[in-house]
Amino acid sequence: MPGRILPRKDHEPTDPWQGIGEAMAHVSRSFVVAAFWLMAGWGSIANGPSMWPRSEFALAHTPIDDPHLDDSMLVLPDLRTLPPSALEIHLGPHGRVLRLANTVWNSGTGALELAGEVSPADRRVSVSQILTRLDGSSHVKFVGEFVWHPGHNHWHINDFALYQVWSLTPLGDLERVVAGGAKVSYCLIDTDVVSPDLPGFVAGRTYRGCGRDRQGLSVGWGDTYAPYLDGQDIELADLPDGLYALVSTVNPVARLMEANYRNNTGVVYIRLVGSRVNILMPRDLAKEVCLSHGKC
Ligand SMILES: [Zn+2]
Repeated sequence: MPGRILPRKDHEPTDPWQGIGEAMAHVSRSFVVAAFWLMAGWGSIANGPSMWPRSEFALAHTPIDDPHLDDSMLVLPDLRTLPPSALEIHLGPHGRVLRLANTVWNSGTGALELAGEVSPADRRVSVSQILTRLDGSSHVKFVGEFVWHPGHNHWHINDFALYQVWSLTPLGDLERVVAGGAKVSYCLIDTDVVSPDLPGFVAGRTYRGCGRDRQGLSVGWGDTYAPYLDGQDIELADLPDGLYALVSTVNPVARLMEANYRNNTGVVYIRLVGSRVNILMPRDLAKEVCLSHGKC
């Protein structure tokens, strides 16, 4: 199911807050997704018996119960994460910093749609998820706030993604978090086509602006944050050279309602050496893990 990259259009501002910062924030996203799909062999990693993260890692959270909501009638989004890409090592004040590109996409039957509403009293922006039912009616569910991100120069929803570096066991399973762990906020727009074959996919970009009125992610579309952006980094500090897993999870605290909370994670296995970071291809992973533990 290869992805198809459409030519990027400049974002269309939706409110006076929006400007150059937003355009800069998304300008190289198509490149990132293209790079992912060009990495031959990724399809096989999902079937690897021991190298793929175990299901225990998947989210255990469920959305807050809403007595007014009949889940069976909803046309829900399903958020997923592509394996992180475009990795870079930089030197920061506290040691090495790993920067990454991250793409979240929607494999569900319905769009993820968020609507903001400004409080006249305190100017805070409450956010509701617009949930569509099979009969075409909709339900509005409060999910949090849009917050102004000064580095990106647009509005974000909090707790949207989580980036972590994990150590590996001698079998290549995830062992424990050794770096990262801060939750990342996001502006949600359609930037890249990931899966145009899905029912419900529409070729044109529906969500284009990072304003506080409306954001979202259409069926089959992805939203990529490039590695140079604020927040796209993990401080490695004094983490030694070696093999690790870089794990990115969307919707980590189940703030947003979606069809499946157990498929939200994207993983790449990496080798850190000095100022370099390499992504290990699936065929090389078992041998590399074995060698690193001196048990081959
Ligand atoms: Zn942003």
